[in-house]
Amino acid sequence: MTGEPDGADRAEPCIFCEIVAGRIPSTEVERTPTTYAFRDINPAAPVHVLVVPTLHVGSVHDLGPGDATLLSDLMAAVQRIAEGEGVAATGYRLVANVGADAGQTVAHLHLHVLGGRPMRWPPE
Ligand code: AMP
Repeated sequence: MTGEPDGADRAEPCIFCEIVAGRIPSTEVERTPTTYAFRDINPAAPVHVLVVPTLHVGSVHDLGPGDATLLSDLMAAVQRIAEGEGVAATGYRLVANVGADAGQTVAHLHLHVLGGRPMRWPPE
């Protein structure tokens, strides 16, 4: 894991660091000391919440053994959000795109929590 809490040490601004710091507006779902959850600006399902670490992490592929607590915090946030959004019982999809072939467009680890409608598998 890398980065200052407000992303101020980054050479290039990271849009999700800016959102975490409140410099770019977002619709908050919940905030903890280590995680921030907000509504996706272009929702792909009735429920589409992004869960990010408050410190900058590029992707799942940048996590290491020292990030076990952060991973646990992210998953606990996902569970609370699914409960709060009313999709825990009906089911939801958790997506983490990693890199170009997966279509990752923002280089700050984010978990998509998608629900509120039936979804096909595989996605395309
Ligand atoms: P990914 O393609 O996995 O990198 O997902 C990035 C997601 O971030 C997309 O679903 C976008 O709609 C979403 N997104 C980009 N900018 C914003 C923003 N300013 N506020 C909320 N969601 C955003």
